[in-house]
Amino acid sequence: MRQTRQIDDVRALVREWRSAGETVGAVMTMGYLHPGHLSLVAAARQDCDRVLGTVFVNPLQFGPAEDYGTYPRDEARDLAMLAEAGCDGAFMPSVQTMFPNGERDPRDSRTTVHLQGLTEVLCGRSRPGHFVGVCTEVLKMFNILGVDISYFGEKDYQQYLVIRAMVEDLALPVRVVACPTLREPDGTAMSSRHAYLAPAERAIAPRLYATLSRTATALATRGSGAAADLTDQACTDLLAQGFTAVEYVEVRDHRLAEPGPQTDPRTLRVFGAVHLGGTRLIDNVAVAEHQPDNPTEQP
Ligand code: AMP
Repeated sequence: MRQTRQIDDVRALVREWRSAGETVGAVMTMGYLHPGHLSLVAAARQDCDRVLGTVFVNPLQFGPAEDYGTYPRDEARDLAMLAEAGCDGAFMPSVQTMFPNGERDPRDSRTTVHLQGLTEVLCGRSRPGHFVGVCTEVLKMFNILGVDISYFGEKDYQQYLVIRAMVEDLALPVRVVACPTLREPDGTAMSSRHAYLAPAERAIAPRLYATLSRTATALATRGSGAAADLTDQACTDLLAQGFTAVEYVEVRDHRLAEPGPQTDPRTLRVFGAVHLGGTRLIDNVAVAEHQPDNPTEQP
């Protein structure tokens, strides 16, 4: 696996591959990798001749009171995992390389990308500036890498939609592909932030997925008119189950529109964000995958 921290080097690498007629896929990460990230690498390997992994903790997407400083990092382990998963290249730029003018917050940045419409709800409401930070950095990565396809996880479903919209709106020459959320055996969506959880908190974490799944199954039965009652109940249940705070539980369609009473529940997803002590966890599930008679439904 070829490794570089320099923009010119990674550009030359991708150019070399593409000029040989090879297709190149990217998996962009903030590191502290787990099998969820590697499932994106596996998807990229299926579709592309070459796969490039990136590891960069993007300061622009963290709010001033968030965990940028403490976000878990282990570059040597990440590189070993990317190589083992079959990446052909890895790009690990420094913050100075990505943001040489000292930008650490979108408000410091001369140029930013602000996407209207999908970013005011869910995580965008509780994390002002977050998606400006994501889009600004992801656009820059796209411009640096010049890959054919980029893979994103449905675990961050809103982020995937926002990036897809940015690509469409700005006619960026890259295809965006979503991959399903990889879960622990207990149902918890794999996340680098699990490193923060004490054992007692980790024992509570699976209840987020269980509650969202139960809500999705009930929606499939009762229809979208029951969404408000069901999300209220889910919030109450999450607090009773030990989460410190519930930021949101919301039902929206696959494009994040609010459902009307007649919306086909199979187009809906249930989104949740909770806090466990100082750790923020998010997850979402598709109602279509939680039909009452679905044998793959987890308890
Ligand atoms: P992160 O390092 O958390 O920024 O994630 C990098 C990419 O991996 C994003 O596209 C995430 O949506 C994706 N990802 C993170 N966790 C999972 C998971 N459990 N299953 C699938 N994809 C994931």
